[in-house]
Amino acid sequence: MPVTAAPTDLIPDTGLLIGETRSTDPTGGVHQHVYAGDGRPTAEVPLGGAVEMDTAVRTARAAQAAWAATRGNVRRDLLLRLADLVERDAADLAGLQTLENGCPRQFASAMPGVAIEHLRYYAGWADKIGGQVVPTWPVRAVDYTLDEPYGVVALIIPWNGPLVSVAQMLAPVLAAGNVVVLKPSELAPFTALRIGELALEAGFPPGVVNVVPGAAAGGEALVRHPDIGKVHFTGGGNTARTILAAAAEHLVPVGLELGGKSAHVVFGDADIRMAARLAMSGVVALSGQGCANGTRVLVHSSVYDEMLRTVTARLARVPVGDPAQERTMMGPVVSEGACRRILGVVERARGARHGRLLSGGERLGGDLAAGYFIGPTVFADVDPASELAQEEIFGPVLAFTPFDSEEEALRLANGTRYGLGAYLHTSDLRTAHRVSRAVAAGSVWVNGVPGVLPSAPFGGVRQSGWGRIGGEAGVREFLRPKNVWIAS
Ligand code: NAD
Repeated sequence: MPVTAAPTDLIPDTGLLIGETRSTDPTGGVHQHVYAGDGRPTAEVPLGGAVEMDTAVRTARAAQAAWAATRGNVRRDLLLRLADLVERDAADLAGLQTLENGCPRQFASAMPGVAIEHLRYYAGWADKIGGQVVPTWPVRAVDYTLDEPYGVVALIIPWNGPLVSVAQMLAPVLAAGNVVVLKPSELAPFTALRIGELALEAGFPPGVVNVVPGAAAGGEALVRHPDIGKVHFTGGGNTARTILAAAAEHLVPVGLELGGKSAHVVFGDADIRMAARLAMSGVVALSGQGCANGTRVLVHSSVYDEMLRTVTARLARVPVGDPAQERTMMGPVVSEGACRRILGVVERARGARHGRLLSGGERLGGDLAAGYFIGPTVFADVDPASELAQEEIFGPVLAFTPFDSEEEALRLANGTRYGLGAYLHTSDLRTAHRVSRAVAAGSVWVNGVPGVLPSAPFGGVRQSGWGRIGGEAGVREFLRPKNVWIAS
């Protein structure tokens, strides 16, 4: 059956949204968006260049003082209203996720709920931000802190989960009293533009939320702008290095949410059926294009063969195909370039014998030939020092490696330059606590995965970044304390 045509009627006005104004002829060029399901063009996306980034930052700055002075309960109500509008438009926003990057409907339809929860969670913070009273000695004084916003925050986000990324970042930034220039990826700009429209409809003052799709040059111009108070970047490590260099010009602080090479660590006493179900989601969920997907599977040798058999048997039954169909669990990867890059990693691994290829590793043909489909790919006995085990592939490739002791498991788990997530599978609570402390990761999930929680901090260590989204840490990311000392 051919892939369902892209629902192009869901595409919003693609003009840049600066204040209340749409700009359709900016200086950053045009990106031709294509539907990953069939490679066909959908819409031309105008991109912001240095000129539009400057206009957006100046527009945001003009709105900043009034927004920072807006009472917390008003900011709260606006965020709640935005959440209600996302709920109203949930079906269209879910459809837009599929259109933007080929995310299967099954996953896409859960995303508005995640976005709504984040907006409501941070609405709850907007009226609870206050300072602290600070004890002083030896001089008697009154000392307190004021939590102040940074001003204009530049949010640069990737293409892999646009609706969730936008809500995760926008909600704490606005709750804290900052204004925003949001730069979505040129590959997936539609959701951000639609949320910008909804923010205006919700009643956010024009200029508080500006949405300027752009490519690297536009993003860099935004980071270099002298009036940016803080940059928060979600994306890859190499881009992060460029952004840090650009931010150095004005010594602007940068939050970083980067990639990972997260591991499932399956101990001998684990529930293998559950561990297998979770491990396979490392390649099935978003076709392996999730920052925290567990794409390394480290398994105690006593259960290694059973785990491999269970995962490969389950993956063979996963419905791969048209992302618009309800039954599809695994869709395409985002682009022709991504497809080639991922298959290149597979070819190099095969050539160098870095592991045994058990399944997948090929582009899918037939009705799917025009889209960017790669079958779920499993390598066994992967060399821990190889590219397969060390690099974020950002595609549907799972790498299995056995271990014989907890010490070896930890050495393997911690043996990359990343540190985003770790998934532990064990029925021994003491093992769970001990390994959770010792593993180098910003998040540890034991015997299950909660989904994207608005209330829990999420972020990386090592080269997975240093920002935190979620929970109180997520709103603190966009506030800085000012200290006031008064002699008394
Ligand atoms: P990317 O680094 O190529 O691009 C991310 C964003 O940066 C895009 O908006 C892009 O246009 C922009 N950009 C590119 N060059 C720039 C420059 N020189 N200056 C300013 N902006 C620039 O990443 P991607 O391919 O869009 O996303 C995949 C990466 O994102 C993966 O590494 C993934 O793990 C990571 N990611 C991390 C998280 C997290 O929360 N830790 C979440 C999602 C994705």
